[in-house]
Amino acid sequence: MRILIIEDEAELARHLSRALGRNGHLVTTATQGPEGLEAAFRERPDLIVLDLGLPGRDGMSVLAELRQRGHAARVMILTARGEVEHRIKGLKAGADDYLPKPFSLDELVARVEAIGRRGGGTGASDPLRIADLIVDVQHRQVMRAGQAIDLSPREFDVLQVLVQEPGRYFSRTELCERVWRRQHEYDTRTVEIFITRLRKKVDSGFEPALIHTLRGVGYSVTLPQKP
Ligand code: CA
Repeated sequence: MRILIIEDEAELARHLSRALGRNGHLVTTATQGPEGLEAAFRERPDLIVLDLGLPGRDGMSVLAELRQRGHAARVMILTARGEVEHRIKGLKAGADDYLPKPFSLDELVARVEAIGRRGGGTGASDPLRIADLIVDVQHRQVMRAGQAIDLSPREFDVLQVLVQEPGRYFSRTELCERVWRRQHEYDTRTVEIFITRLRKKVDSGFEPALIHTLRGVGYSVTLPQKP
């Protein structure tokens, strides 16, 4: 996984970075809130380890902006002792897990691996396939008829949700929840825009079309029924 650590204690950040690197992850670090936020959108990590007490901008505010701007990375917050209420707030604000300080490196690595497994949804690293479409969740790569298809991170997320349950129709609201982690009031037209883009990239020029719309119901990736 690509992992971003946002932690202002330099020594701790270094230890974390080394431990996760040894486990085969690609790690970048940031020591301040604003810098961390910038790195999150630049590096597009799969997971962010986020300290709550940060200079410049605290971790909770960083988390809020990540989610508000649709960042899909899993987030694990690090809480100092006595910040139980922050832990709850953090989980409500879209964090996936938390780890109270002090913690052992082994525990951190184990939690990170657990989050990584959860993130894929299938629990397996085998690519998902429908007809000639292959979606490699682990490496976030898509191929159709042997051709690599270049998707933006969010386009990939939408496609992944659909492909993980082929034949099932997802409403716009449901897709919003799954991809943007929002429960309501998100501009669901955004979903339409992403579906249009996915159609262009995944279906256009290929046979048969795999992305389907059922009016008033939603979207699905599935093989068309034979007449
Ligand atoms: Ca701190």
